[in-house]
Amino acid sequence: MTPSHWYNIIPDLTAPPPPPLHPATMQPVGPDDLAPLFPMELIGQEVSTDRFVEIPQEVLDVYRLWRPTPLIRAHRLEKALQTPARIYYKYEGVSPAGSHKPNTAVPQAYYNAREGVRRLTTETGAGQWGSSLAFACAQFGLECQIWMVRASYDQKPYRRSLMQVYGATVHASPSPVTGAGSKILAENPDSTGSLGIAISEAVEVAGQDPATRYALGSVLNHVLMHQTVIGEEALKQLPERPDLVIGCTGGGSNFAGLAFPFMREHPDITFRAVEPEACPSFTRGRYAYDFGDTAGFTPLLKMHTLGHSFVPDPIHAGGLRYHGMSPLLSHMYELGMFEAVTRSQTECFEAGVRFARTEGIVPAPEPTHALAETIAEALRCKETGEPKVILTALCGHGHFDMAAYDRYLAGEMRDFALPQERIDEALSTLPVTG
Ligand SMILES: *Cc1c(COP(=O)(O)O)cnc(C)c1O
Repeated sequence: MTPSHWYNIIPDLTAPPPPPLHPATMQPVGPDDLAPLFPMELIGQEVSTDRFVEIPQEVLDVYRLWRPTPLIRAHRLEKALQTPARIYYKYEGVSPAGSHKPNTAVPQAYYNAREGVRRLTTETGAGQWGSSLAFACAQFGLECQIWMVRASYDQKPYRRSLMQVYGATVHASPSPVTGAGSKILAENPDSTGSLGIAISEAVEVAGQDPATRYALGSVLNHVLMHQTVIGEEALKQLPERPDLVIGCTGGGSNFAGLAFPFMREHPDITFRAVEPEACPSFTRGRYAYDFGDTAGFTPLLKMHTLGHSFVPDPIHAGGLRYHGMSPLLSHMYELGMFEAVTRSQTECFEAGVRFARTEGIVPAPEPTHALAETIAEALRCKETGEPKVILTALCGHGHFDMAAYDRYLAGEMRDFALPQERIDEALSTLPVTG
């Protein structure tokens, strides 16, 4: 049931996405520029024009610990909503780390180990990517060093414990152990951090040692491709053709992972990305070349961005607090291949609680965005009488996010309005690409 290949959507697009640029030369980056950070196999996958890439047996052996994941019809939610819509969710929370992230952490660790790398560095927001990479490194005997955004480090101590149980070293970011972190701490000792800052720290350390490389949990083409195991399985499991596919988007990987195989098989159905009101890259960002990190160490990526200096408000969906978006999805959004909408934090938690009380699973704060949109759509169907088939990505459970649910239940959660001036200010620091 678990597919034998990942699906690469790029050769099926009407035009390829614009390449990453070297910030000094403004020329497309080549393999040599990326070699200090990534293993050759992943650099090859990043620019591959093969439609399908075979999943190595060693990776399939680890996937088998939790794959295939269940595809479940939400009968009880449908009933509670009194909707004629039929709602299905693909549940990735059954993985060891509790989210879809191990789908790419495992192959990334495997290819690095195969090429002789001894240590991986990375950043993590909510801790889901960090715990996934820590788990994957333990499978292949790699050391793992993680920079965890300070806000989450303080709010989610058990995610940190989980990474440590898997054997990783965890730093609160900004940290004094890197140049990028020290600089930010000097300017603002109380900085709560951001994914962009944590990326700068992890990239800096990887660049200093040939036996150390860096791993990214979303955004890049190879990450989105690894996640297509979700959609390939769902295509086979779903007993009917969906009318609408809905997923939350931080860097875009769980949405792409579910959606891409359906875009190949059913290009005429509706696809919808849901992002937080507090970090709206698709809906209010600019499609432009920008850095992937705060310090400006990464290549320039053409993407929907709020500006690399943008620090989102500390919403509980830490995995969605990223200033940019996958360049591949950004390009596809420009091609009109899917829609994007925003949802506020409180309506998302309301949806999460409603889902838990009907379907039993407590969702992670990130996929509550997809659930809020799914519920809104199902209620529209109730008004129109349309029996739409909705497929949504339930990309993780919320067992480490109970403090956030406590705040919601206590009525202490609030929404963050994002004034246009804050976006304009961050966008004024975009690099000039001529
Ligand atoms: C990381 C994460 C996200 C956001 O990342 P994407 O690449 O957009 O999927 C969403 N949900 C969960 C559970 C995550 O761990």
